[in-house]
Amino acid sequence: METISAIRGFKDILPAEAGQWLFVEEQARRVFHAFGFRDIRIPILEKTELFARGIGESTDIVEKEMYTFTDRGDESLTLRPEATASILRAYIEHALYATDPVARLYTIGPMFRRERPQKGRYRQFYQIDAEILGLDDPRVDAELILMLTHFLKAVGLTNPHVEINSLGCPVCRPGFRSAVVAHLQGREEELCGDCRRRIDTNPLRVFDCKIESCRAAVEHAPRLADFLCDACRVHFGTVQESLGLFCVPFSINDRMVRGLDYYTRTTFEVTTDVLGAQNAVVGGGRYDGLVQQLGGPDIPGIGFAIGFERLVSLMPRVAEDFRRTPALFIAALGAEAQKIAFELANRLRLNNVEVEMDYAGKSLKSQMKRADKLGCRYALIIGDREIAEKSGVFRDLRNSTQTPVGLDLASITGKMEALQRGVEDLV
Ligand code: AMP
Repeated sequence: METISAIRGFKDILPAEAGQWLFVEEQARRVFHAFGFRDIRIPILEKTELFARGIGESTDIVEKEMYTFTDRGDESLTLRPEATASILRAYIEHALYATDPVARLYTIGPMFRRERPQKGRYRQFYQIDAEILGLDDPRVDAELILMLTHFLKAVGLTNPHVEINSLGCPVCRPGFRSAVVAHLQGREEELCGDCRRRIDTNPLRVFDCKIESCRAAVEHAPRLADFLCDACRVHFGTVQESLGLFCVPFSINDRMVRGLDYYTRTTFEVTTDVLGAQNAVVGGGRYDGLVQQLGGPDIPGIGFAIGFERLVSLMPRVAEDFRRTPALFIAALGAEAQKIAFELANRLRLNNVEVEMDYAGKSLKSQMKRADKLGCRYALIIGDREIAEKSGVFRDLRNSTQTPVGLDLASITGKMEALQRGVEDLV
């Protein structure tokens, strides 16, 4: 029969890669918990309106990338393209601000965007997402970036480029926006169709366009830094000062506007040489008006999203370095030996020892071959003679030495511990 394959742009994470993914998750949880973050799990499906309102109608995501469908109850639903809107929806719905004025929330999970699949770009991809709600202090922006770089180091990225910018606030951004519109008007000819439309809907997005002529058209456009109001300038200054305190290396990129509408003041991206300038591994920023825009109180927020697949592709330690291997392989020869092996294997597992065995009655040679392939450190061989003598053969597969061992739990675990400690074994 014909086989069924996964959908284009949807990727399986196989056991061979999963060890690396688990490591990244463990590091994220460890670092984030130290910074006071708590796990939140949000649904994958939300009402379409949440993203239209939360991300912005005129963003690429909402305009053309969402997986939206009408369900059997005639409701328009969307697979979440990012996590911030959903986290804020949950925050408002459960009035988390009433319990504590500050919430530090993180979540790890899949997001869905119908983009053109290519290397490093999928239609289902994972993000590690962190949000701080209830604080507009610029030191918090620096703290979040500090946590991010600390985490990136923990997974082995030694030299991430952090780029920061301030997008201003509702007081100063309109002035910048008008100046950009004025700059773009008269240059329509140089712009792609999308950007021509953006002059009216979302002019700052022209800075994000990857098309060469559009990039040239904004090369001499007004600079955001010249339009920041005093409050935003001071805010941005403190962010930089606070990053300096921890020697977090960063550069200012005042052309970085980020793809989503909701950002205010500090925005940041992490890029690496490997991905190229257009492909960030992390994107984030402040969104002080978003909670209110979603119907909640006027509460400021800031957050980031790390692209899991891109992060993994940048790690110096590859999947093979995180391979899980059983500690022990029990090779049983004959029905009686299999009975003993079955019991021993599962009693060891109940004691947290990773054990594998053969159930098919294969030859010793083929069982040892499998033990080797699985990367087992030790093998316990049980045949008729071993049963008669109540003593199995314990083999260290790294150096091929072997010693007898009692066929009971305590003797086997004792032997493994002694060998692991490198103790001279006289049994
Ligand atoms: P954004 O939510 O667009 O700011 O994206 C944050 C991060 O998620 C990016 O920096 C990427 O690392 C990752 N990301 C976004 N879209 C995709 C995608 N289609 N495939 C893989 N990773 C993605």
